[in-house]
Amino acid sequence: MSQQTQALFDIILANIDHGVIVYDANNLVQHVNPAFERMTGYTASEVLGKDLEMLVSGQADRAIISTMRGSIDTKDCWQGEIKIRHRKGGTCPFNSSIHILPGQTGQPHNYVTIIRNVVENRDLDKDDRHNIQCNLLTGLPNQHLFKDRLEQVLITSKRVNKSAAILVCGLDRFSIINDGLGHAFGDLLLKAVALRLKSCFRGSDTVAHIEGDCFGMVLQMTATDDGVTIAEKILKAIKRPFEIKGQEVTVTASIGISLYPTDDENVDKLIAYAKSAMRHAKKGSGNKYQFFSNNMNTKAKKRIEMECSLRRAIEHKEFILYYQPKVNAESQQIVGAEALMRWQDPENGMISPAVFIPVAEETGLIEPIGTWGLREACRQNKQWQDKGLRPIRVSVNVSGRQLLATDFADKIKVILEESGLLSRYLELEITESLLMDNTGDNINKLQQIRDLGCHISIDDFGTGYSSLSYLTRFPISALKIDRAFIKEVEISKNASEVARAIIGLSQGLQMEVIAEGAENIKHVNFLRQNGCDTVQGYYYSRPVPAEEFEDLLSIVFIKW
Ligand code: C2E
Ligand code: MG
Ligand code: MG
Repeated sequence: MSQQTQALFDIILANIDHGVIVYDANNLVQHVNPAFERMTGYTASEVLGKDLEMLVSGQADRAIISTMRGSIDTKDCWQGEIKIRHRKGGTCPFNSSIHILPGQTGQPHNYVTIIRNVVENRDLDKDDRHNIQCNLLTGLPNQHLFKDRLEQVLITSKRVNKSAAILVCGLDRFSIINDGLGHAFGDLLLKAVALRLKSCFRGSDTVAHIEGDCFGMVLQMTATDDGVTIAEKILKAIKRPFEIKGQEVTVTASIGISLYPTDDENVDKLIAYAKSAMRHAKKGSGNKYQFFSNNMNTKAKKRIEMECSLRRAIEHKEFILYYQPKVNAESQQIVGAEALMRWQDPENGMISPAVFIPVAEETGLIEPIGTWGLREACRQNKQWQDKGLRPIRVSVNVSGRQLLATDFADKIKVILEESGLLSRYLELEITESLLMDNTGDNINKLQQIRDLGCHISIDDFGTGYSSLSYLTRFPISALKIDRAFIKEVEISKNASEVARAIIGLSQGLQMEVIAEGAENIKHVNFLRQNGCDTVQGYYYSRPVPAEEFEDLLSIVFIKW
């Protein structure tokens, strides 16, 4: 296969919405794609080399995998429905097909299973419709149905002027049982726990299986301490030994409780609050319940609120990129721009990335937000070039969590292809701390990005990790001196010495050196006199929207 065809296949595999699993004649998984990871919750590293059995739900589906082999010998392809296990528990019916993948001469065949969309509602019979709304393992309502039911309870509570308690219950150290005694044992335990939980409630109350070992419950309160009474009842019920496959096991649970309307009136926030309280209860030895409002401070509450708003912001496309010019110290010409994210929150106005990026990182939302930023910056830059403006390099900030994603380099490659931007016009800004985690893996990922032809710079250089040894090991093209040093260059000898040393270091290592935060002519002169290549800061321009940046760029030689 030519290199180009291989590259084409790689791009397709990384981007299609269908999950792909390649496995050998012994059922050992050889390859999975990112869509598979999204659909099943498993990462590639968790399944590679493992037996396909861990993914396929029941005996019937395992039988399908074996019998289809006979069928594809004659027909090349088998199509039908397979239930695939989700990492967080339960299974889902997918429209699937299985194909034969011929090995090289003399080599055995491999097989490819493609899993498409979940079997859609209109195709479902009563049982399957139940499966879409319910956790297939325990038969309890799943997260979607739980939210629906909670919505209904809140509407009724409002009408009759009553309160409601939302409880989220998780088993303490469930992963130890699951890993130690096996998934099949863990599944049986979850089923038994589900029955115990149901026995604690009236038939009309909702007990749901939200994910993994996490259950959600909602009850309308008739007395103020109803939440406490039920939480104590649950803890006691779970603590009683279970008998699974003739073996006695004891587990404990932790419960988080949020209250309607005291804590909030919004379904998503109430669930998030109860989960947060549960995590709090789990700290220490577990076997506890915890109310959200009693223990959570306003800061924690604000953070959770922001998480909910960020989710909405992604859906409603409330992000925008501003661009700040980077100017060549000698020619005074704009040679690049840094793309800086802004959030236009309809309620609170423009929000700084310093406020929302840390929450996005903590919650994993940085992945969709960051991908949008990369895509938008490349699209915009290409549009400027298509308009005939002088080509410049645009840099995008990348956080650790984005880089850790297994397919990050593939993602960059696809984004470049989609936008038509040449890779040399894209730069990624990463921080020093990012280079210190998981080093070997990160070197590989960064090298793949450099191999594509993109530039990589170290942002806020000088403030993070004190060892310089990594500079020689990582494929870095530029250092960005942190603005804290530039701010002080005129008043602090130490700061100016650090700035000079970073410039010298970059020159020695043949890297570009960029200074950020140049606010006045003294800063610019200092940087120019000391050999800094590129300067960025309010002296030239604040970060501005794309249209304004276009005006700056159309001035060929800037006379600042
Ligand atoms: P950063 O990457 O170090 O960006 C430079 C920050 O310095 C920007 O703040 C910029 O507006 C500000 N700045 C530029 N020139 C001057 C100056 O002359 N004086 C002063 N005082 N400040 C100056 P901003 O836009 O608020 O961004 C803050 C941080 O948020 C960024 O720091 C970056 O770490 C993060 N960030 C921004 N956009 C993104 C993004 O798309 N993804 C990720 N992961 N992080 C982002
Ligand atoms: Mg930056
Ligand atoms: Mg910086």
